[in-house]
Amino acid sequence: MKIEAICVDRDMTIRGALSRIEQSGVGILLVVTAGVFERTVTDGDLRRLILSGCSLEHTLVELADVKSVTVEETYTRREALSLMRKHKINHLPVVSREGHVLDLVLRSSLDEHVLLSTPHIGEEELEYVNEAFRTNWIAPLGPNVDAFEREVASKVGSPNAVALSSGTAAIHLALILLDVGPDDIVFCSSLTFVASVNPVLYQGAEPVFIDSEPNSWNMSPVALERAFVLAAQEGRMPKAVIVVSLYGQSADMDSIIEICEKYSVPIVEDAAESLGAMYKGKCSGTFGRFGIYSFNGNKIITTSGGGMLLMEDESSAKRARFLATQARDPALHYQHSSIGYNYRLSNVLAGVGRGQLKVLDQRVAARRKVFATYKSELSSVDWLEWMPVPDWSFSTHWLSACKIRDNYKNRKASEIIAKLSEDFIEARPIWKPMHLQPLFRKHQYHSHGEQSVSDDLFEQGICLPSGSNMTESQQSRVIDAILAI
Ligand SMILES: *Cc1c(COP(=O)(O)O)cnc(C)c1O
Repeated sequence: MKIEAICVDRDMTIRGALSRIEQSGVGILLVVTAGVFERTVTDGDLRRLILSGCSLEHTLVELADVKSVTVEETYTRREALSLMRKHKINHLPVVSREGHVLDLVLRSSLDEHVLLSTPHIGEEELEYVNEAFRTNWIAPLGPNVDAFEREVASKVGSPNAVALSSGTAAIHLALILLDVGPDDIVFCSSLTFVASVNPVLYQGAEPVFIDSEPNSWNMSPVALERAFVLAAQEGRMPKAVIVVSLYGQSADMDSIIEICEKYSVPIVEDAAESLGAMYKGKCSGTFGRFGIYSFNGNKIITTSGGGMLLMEDESSAKRARFLATQARDPALHYQHSSIGYNYRLSNVLAGVGRGQLKVLDQRVAARRKVFATYKSELSSVDWLEWMPVPDWSFSTHWLSACKIRDNYKNRKASEIIAKLSEDFIEARPIWKPMHLQPLFRKHQYHSHGEQSVSDDLFEQGICLPSGSNMTESQQSRVIDAILAI
């Protein structure tokens, strides 16, 4: 609808007005005299004129002067919606200080939320799911599970993949396979989601947290080295290092691998957020002794819930499948000699995963485009700085992450997030680092330098809506809202 199409003047007849309302499709006209907004006209207003004795040939001069509710162009969606509720109206003209009509807000288009990252289903998932139903493979095993494992492994270039019920389960099994137990230490990235670290606690072990570096926002090799030196002095070496690849970007793996090899400590790569990303051309998730992916609903591809454990050696893959299916000894009767888990992925959900994997490259391209669009459209916003992408990184930009520049102390990420929320735009802070969590209060932390990098990122960081299914108009809404700030 062009706004000019519903702006009319008082010379118009009631007949003309009725027919214009009919054409416009929005159920309302705006009376404008000499370029200045006067009032709204609904078909109810016209009906009342006729009931009071006007004919169809009378003009809108007959309409009384009333003060219609309007908003200025700086309106937020929340404000507009509450005005509409208060006055029981479905339309709100946007009128400038000078009285010029700029736009018309419709209630129906107002409360659409722009969410951070939503599932994006393709065209083939249902075929695999239907196949599972048709053949009655409705169990945590079956042809989709086997095929999904093979397809993920071949996509990322890993010899083995084990499909599990979640990324968290994959991390847990990795730690069990590395024999992490009570009193062991595990070095962990501090800037991450809690699921990276909870499995350390499941095993009764103790996490020691490592800061991020400013270049990639991922684990700082400097802090890692320092943690190792201290651990060596104390004679308490970690049993494993869990390295997170944040928001679709790999950590600086060469440096981290070099340090871990020097101390002969295996790496678990938590690539839950970085399926599709690459480090120097090699897929994120294939670097450590174990790598893990998550297929939770918000991740780049999803099975609604699910995960994958990757590794080089066949025997670990066998052991992982054994542990994930209640650790049943090879006997006809149910016999068990070790603790097992119910961690396998359902054959129905693996079907969803197979369909999703086919469009992974498209999803990666779409997320990268979202990031590139923010970056170019918001290049004039000098208080914003984008998550850096080092030369070695091919990032999926699972989430478009940015931060407030260090020298803009008067701007607060929390205020920006609250402002966007008034426009029904969901933005989030950067992860709250683990060493700041009440759960991990007592655990050691090694910062990158004198100043902790992850503390600052938490304070200043913002994740913007980044879904691969975001429309251009949704992204424009986010961009406009930030420009307005
Ligand atoms: C999502 C996520 C996980 C956990 O994956 P689930 O499949 O939800 O269990 C682990 N680590 C990180 C960094 C994540 O973002």
